[in-house]
Amino acid sequence: MLAETWLHCLFCSTLALGARVQDPEFFEQGQLVAVLTTQPLDRFLDYKAPEGGCFRGSFVEVPLGPRKVLGVVWGPGRGDFDIAKIRPVNRVLDVAPMRDEMRAFLERAADYTLTPLHAMLRLATRAPGLSDPPSMRKVYRRGDGEPDRQTDARRRVLEALNDYGDLAFTLKELSEMAGVTSSVVKGLVKQGVVREEDTPRDLPFFRLDPEYAGKDLTDEQAAGAEALCAGVRSEAYGTTLLRGVTGSGKTEVYLEAVAETLRKGRQALVLLPEIALTAEFLSRVEERFGAKPAEWHSGVTMTERRRIWKMVGQGGAQLVIGARSALFLPYQNLGLIVVDEEHDTSYKQEDGVLYNARDMAVLRASLCSARVVLASATPSLESWANAEAGKYEKLELTARFGEAVLPDMRAIDMRVEDLPGSRWISPTLQKAVEARVERGEQALLFINRRGYAPVTICRACGHQVGCDDCDARMVEHRFLKRLVCHQCGETKPMPEECPSCKVEGKLAPVGPGVERLAEEAQALFPDARLAVLSSDLFGSARALKEGINSIAEGGADIIIGTQLVAKGHNFPLLTLVGVIDADLGLQGSDLRAAERTFQLMRQVAGRAGRAEKRGEAMLQTFQPEHPVIRAILAGDEINFWKAEANERRHAGVPPFGRMAGIILSSPDVQQVFDLGNALARNDGALREVGAQVFGPAPAPIARIRGRHRVRLLVKADKGVPIQAAVAKWIGQFRLKGDIRLSVDIDPQSFY
Ligand code: ADP
Ligand code: ZN
Repeated sequence: MLAETWLHCLFCSTLALGARVQDPEFFEQGQLVAVLTTQPLDRFLDYKAPEGGCFRGSFVEVPLGPRKVLGVVWGPGRGDFDIAKIRPVNRVLDVAPMRDEMRAFLERAADYTLTPLHAMLRLATRAPGLSDPPSMRKVYRRGDGEPDRQTDARRRVLEALNDYGDLAFTLKELSEMAGVTSSVVKGLVKQGVVREEDTPRDLPFFRLDPEYAGKDLTDEQAAGAEALCAGVRSEAYGTTLLRGVTGSGKTEVYLEAVAETLRKGRQALVLLPEIALTAEFLSRVEERFGAKPAEWHSGVTMTERRRIWKMVGQGGAQLVIGARSALFLPYQNLGLIVVDEEHDTSYKQEDGVLYNARDMAVLRASLCSARVVLASATPSLESWANAEAGKYEKLELTARFGEAVLPDMRAIDMRVEDLPGSRWISPTLQKAVEARVERGEQALLFINRRGYAPVTICRACGHQVGCDDCDARMVEHRFLKRLVCHQCGETKPMPEECPSCKVEGKLAPVGPGVERLAEEAQALFPDARLAVLSSDLFGSARALKEGINSIAEGGADIIIGTQLVAKGHNFPLLTLVGVIDADLGLQGSDLRAAERTFQLMRQVAGRAGRAEKRGEAMLQTFQPEHPVIRAILAGDEINFWKAEANERRHAGVPPFGRMAGIILSSPDVQQVFDLGNALARNDGALREVGAQVFGPAPAPIARIRGRHRVRLLVKADKGVPIQAAVAKWIGQFRLKGDIRLSVDIDPQSFY
């Protein structure tokens, strides 16, 4: 759907949104400025302001040795270098200067995560070609007169252009709209009937219309939407925890807050945990606002990334739907951040800069007077505790939209089921599935394990096939016909003989993965149409989207799925969810194991009965009396959170205490332990603030990609400035050789 485009100046494409006036410091040519570059240096570099001067926040290209690098003017230079040697800035780049609030955000985020500032700047400049001169492309619009000879194709081109007034289109857009080949357009250009023009390559996004197609909300939804909108109107920082069962309309409600943000002329960001979600989500946004928003995640092309980066900075993008790194885009006037499925663990970046996007969203918003909405059916204990403590406002949706009600939940006690060793679908579950499928409804069998079997064992010697580079077992993927290491991604063909005892033909799969479960289901339900939904079985996000759409339209009777299905897809025909192994998540030593299991099981169960049909969820478990399983079955969220909060309060662990993980790694096992022990012995800086250090201990996965891994854990009371103490503590040590140290503030996983 095309709507009007942004009005913008063709040459500099500046300002389309109601920007706030900002008056940054200006540096005349020759004045010293301090520049932060994306290079791994732990200080600012002094340069002379270039001809024409520059602003604090200007993106610049500066010489560094023989190279030219990207940087940002951070403030006045310090002048502690030989002034004669200081070189001038090469040039100021043609992008909007970094706003003061963004600089503050990067500084605060760097301090919080104990990450060097240059690494934060890299996160904030993850678009290619920012230093390229503005590039142009050809667009086409209505010219003068009529064609010498009117044809059907020509008439369609002119009609398409007339329909959109003075809008210009690319050759591809125009020929697609008119349903003609590009030569028809080119022919019209020759006659001057269509005009060809050069325009900047990075065009603004189509304008979203907040009044386009709002839904009629239920009373409860409307009250919730109004509360969020009032927050948006206040133009002051605030965070709301929006809690509501799956299907209660949280999305509808926060889209109203997005609409209000757009009415105020400010920008909105919706963070989603999974690329897979965005396709379905984007169509929903388009239905609501009449045009597509900007979409930011790892699957977006490089040119589109640059376009989004620039347009966000200039106000040519009103709404961004993105993965966590979208937080680091240079918004010009950000008024709202929604973190959907806020409990999702993928918000924690576990590679490179270790940050939690949910927490950073709150920080970002507090610095630019924006609102935050944290939406979830099963909030994280952190957010729940913040809401209880009054730091966040609370908003709850209790009813499911339409007729849909929460599914009936019950346990299948696997201790009494009659099931042979290598089968996982109990007779009870089997009957329930058959009954649903006979009625033309869908059943979902859920198992949170990719691949065919988690373990491959040799029946001759007992050897378990492991990864050469990691202390991890390799997982058989029959679909790929290979063994895959889920730690490092290494794959190898399934060996004929045991790598240890060399006996042939004795390797056997142990335990179920989603592919093996599919095989069992195929045998049990030979007439049913099966669909397997696992992230690694789809070549692309588009293929996945098509798979999901086809299932939603009834293209399968039984869905076999991993965690992927737990996340927000609507399957209206789905009425039964069978959880194959509800105990799986409870086995880890992770302090959040109970919380994660509770969230995941609730989310999965929430897939059932979203439309008018009543749903049912069955959990296969060997420990039906386990408190977590019982809380899930009873649907007793509040009591679960209370009990879990109590346990953590007693243990002094997050969110009631603070933690930092230190991970050391090196190819040399002695080296990591030596450093680990030295850290543990010299913990004065930690003891000063009352923090304690535990370890060193081999990490649960003691070797990844050939590097030995050792962990230390720092624990402190809630009020303790743990970052400063940790920085001082590790600052005593110089890292020698190929040893790496990373700090994980508020660790989410302990692998
Ligand atoms: P949640 O985000 O809480 O899981 P959604 O917002 O996705 O819930 O709503 C679930 C389904 O119900 C969606 O298909 C949505 O479009 C529909 N829905 C919710 N509220 C309304 C409403 N007021 N009018 C029409 N459809 C609605
Ligand atoms: Zn490996």
